[in-house]
Amino acid sequence: MDFDVLVVGEVRNSKIHSVTYELTSKARELADKLGSEVEVLLLYSRCEDELEDLIYRGADRVLFVKNEELKFFNQEIWTNIVTDVALKRQPYIMLTGATSSGRTFFPAVAAKLNTGLTADCTGLDIEEETNLLLQTRPAIGGNVMATIKTPNHRPQMATVRPRTFRPLPKDESRKGEIVELKPDESLFNVRVKTLRFERDESQNVNIQDADVVVAFGKGIKKPENVKYISELAEALKAAIGASRAAVDAKWIGYPHQVGLSGKVVSPKLYIAAGISGAVQHIAGMQTSEYIVAINKDPEAPIFRIANFGIVGDLFEVIPELTKRIKLEIEKSGGKNK
Ligand SMILES: Cc1cc2nc3c(=O)[nH]c(=O)nc-3n(C[C@H](O)[C@H](O)[C@H](O)COP(=O)(O)OP(=O)(O)OC[C@H]3O[C@@H](n4cnc5c(N)ncnc54)[C@H](O)[C@@H]3O)c2cc1C
Repeated sequence: MDFDVLVVGEVRNSKIHSVTYELTSKARELADKLGSEVEVLLLYSRCEDELEDLIYRGADRVLFVKNEELKFFNQEIWTNIVTDVALKRQPYIMLTGATSSGRTFFPAVAAKLNTGLTADCTGLDIEEETNLLLQTRPAIGGNVMATIKTPNHRPQMATVRPRTFRPLPKDESRKGEIVELKPDESLFNVRVKTLRFERDESQNVNIQDADVVVAFGKGIKKPENVKYISELAEALKAAIGASRAAVDAKWIGYPHQVGLSGKVVSPKLYIAAGISGAVQHIAGMQTSEYIVAINKDPEAPIFRIANFGIVGDLFEVIPELTKRIKLEIEKSGGKNK
């Protein structure tokens, strides 16, 4: 169809990465506005998840390429195959996650297809009058939100940070197709060979998967005070997040940074303690389900997006909160719900 949306998904450690479901959900919304279809492309050597799940969550067609050469991410192979699929299927819009691999191969695909690419979008929509893709992303250090269009070239391409959109709930009555693609052998014939993959354990903090994040900012004043946050996080079985100011001060490592130049998180509960709520911080946590802010300044911008605000000194509020939570957990027989 003329207006199809193609999502290039990701399989990591043999599992479909959550960003694939998030983008499929957004692609469904865009395709419904355009009266078109959603295709999801996956490249992998092994996938333990059911591909039908993508159909239940919004796709019309799942295209997959299964090949041992796809065991490790290789920029050239991904670029070759995705470009080939795009040329054959002529999608109107192409989306992928702004993950390290997405950020690497998608610009190369855009260059090969001679089209534009908007990286790191936080919003996508269809312009009613023109049917063009509206690609919104923070610009000028996050101080403005820029909406970008690609009026003259196709496809319209965008990368989106993980956790920006919510996956659709599973609807097992949805029907679709699963199609294996067999790209030409020559597309695997590249100059770079990946020999092995080694994880950097020092970056092994996954605040993006946590249901609860307790985050702190400059208001914590000195590194010794991080203990107040750690105690609350421990009681709530939460991950610890931080503002860039706290990370720049070296009070905690970069993997904990939430925001425009850090990670985007979308937990069920986000507690922001001593964080002013700069636009660049908010860009990384505004999709959290429930936001609690603790700040001694009643005018702090964080209160504008908080569901629940506590105006007070965090050194009084946090220990009291930790005490009460521990008490409640004790009362419920040790169950942390
Ligand atoms: C290009 C660019 C990218 C950026 N990326 C990011 C990013 O990814 N993440 C990010 O966070 N920032 C980012 N920033 C920086 C951002 O603009 C802010 O400077 C930063 O978020 C401020 O951090 P903060 O809220 O901890 O500090 P501050 O703005 O100094 O706020 C500290 C807050 O603590 C409160 N406070 C002080 N004492 C107490 C107390 N005892 N009890 C309760 N509250 C107290 C104060 O009222 C204040 O609101 C970026 C900036 C730029 C230009």
